[in-house]
Amino acid sequence: MVLAYGLEDPQIYTSLSIKADFFLFKPVDIKLLKLQLFAADRQRLKLAELMEIREKAASYKKELDLMEQQYEDAFSRANTLTVESEIARLELDQIFKTVAGGIMLIDKDCNVIRVNDAISNLTGLASIEVQGKKCFETSLCEHCHTPECPFSRIQGGEKRVEIEVRKTFPNGETAYYIITATPLRIFAPEFMGIVVTLTDIMERAKAERALMEIKEALRISKEQYKQLSIIDDLTGLFNKRRLNEQLKWETSRALRYNRPLSLLLMDIDNFKSVNDIYGHSQGDRVLAGLARMVKNCIRDSDIAFRYGGEEFIIILPETSIDNSLKVAGRIRQSLASLIFPVNLSDKITITLSIGATQYAPGEDQNDFIARADQYMYYAKKNGKDRVICNIETFENA
Ligand code: GH3
Ligand code: MG
Ligand code: MG
Repeated sequence: MVLAYGLEDPQIYTSLSIKADFFLFKPVDIKLLKLQLFAADRQRLKLAELMEIREKAASYKKELDLMEQQYEDAFSRANTLTVESEIARLELDQIFKTVAGGIMLIDKDCNVIRVNDAISNLTGLASIEVQGKKCFETSLCEHCHTPECPFSRIQGGEKRVEIEVRKTFPNGETAYYIITATPLRIFAPEFMGIVVTLTDIMERAKAERALMEIKEALRISKEQYKQLSIIDDLTGLFNKRRLNEQLKWETSRALRYNRPLSLLLMDIDNFKSVNDIYGHSQGDRVLAGLARMVKNCIRDSDIAFRYGGEEFIIILPETSIDNSLKVAGRIRQSLASLIFPVNLSDKITITLSIGATQYAPGEDQNDFIARADQYMYYAKKNGKDRVICNIETFENA
């Protein structure tokens, strides 16, 4: 408030009126003063309001500026992302087109959302037959709706599933490929679908099939070889097949030249108990050892055969029954001193029951063997560990 005199001087009045809001002239009119004070107060309040509004406006502007800045940043980021995603899309397109194997993207609802052309080459299904279909409608693999289904397994939490597929087309041709399935977005927390890749293994399958065929051919030829074989694997003696051929030849020769021909049929006594006590492999050792010993006891012209499990036959050309009995005696004697050690304390010894007989000119070779067998049986029946050549002799004994 300024008190002033001489306001009639226009100069003072003018200079004061620049700064003063209003003037009161004496004598002071109280009513006017109150009015003026009221007006001044209202003006002050308005001024304060105005200041507040200004401040708010300034802060809004600041916020607006910031938002504008953020918008610009976001816009530029979006631009960059658009460019990057476009590049990624182009790269993906290129990969889809040029990769040798088949690629298929399947969403979480089993919809095939994208496939490449290689899928058609491998599966024989045109892209159009696959794209947009449910994966289980494409008959891409034979595991749909089973626990083996790659989709279900990845959905169940597996990170990678690989299965081999063999697919036969209506024209009879067969395709072999490996299906590899992985999660569609590997880092996404929830299941988004799967990426399937198909790898052609036709060549490998062909090679495997060829190998299998070779193995089968080998197995068959081994089988045939076995059939044709004349040697017994375990003992190295001739087998029963060769016995029949040899005997045919020896009997016809004995008949033609009227020469003696004898045969010994030998059966190991109680051999089952050797297996039972010491085991089958020890039993095999005994059979092989006995065969070696028999070979050492006979002449070069005599021939030993493994007739059955623990049965042996010796054909003795140019040999009478008496001489064949000498050979049988020699064998039994050698056998008595033949010991098969099993371990430090146990030793296996064996004995033989032998049927000996001479060929009756003109008789059937089966009858010749059957007679020797009958004598061997008598030897068994009458105490084992002996040679029988004549039932009458035995029955008279
Ligand atoms: P027996 O005195 O009456 O001839 O009695 P055995 O026990 O010798 O005769 P049996 O016919 O009861 O048993 C023959 C045994 O020979 C049973 C069988 O396991 C055994 N055997 C047959 N061939 C082989 C073989 O190749 N290796 C082995 N370890 N044992 C065999
Ligand atoms: Mg026997
Ligand atoms: Mg026996």
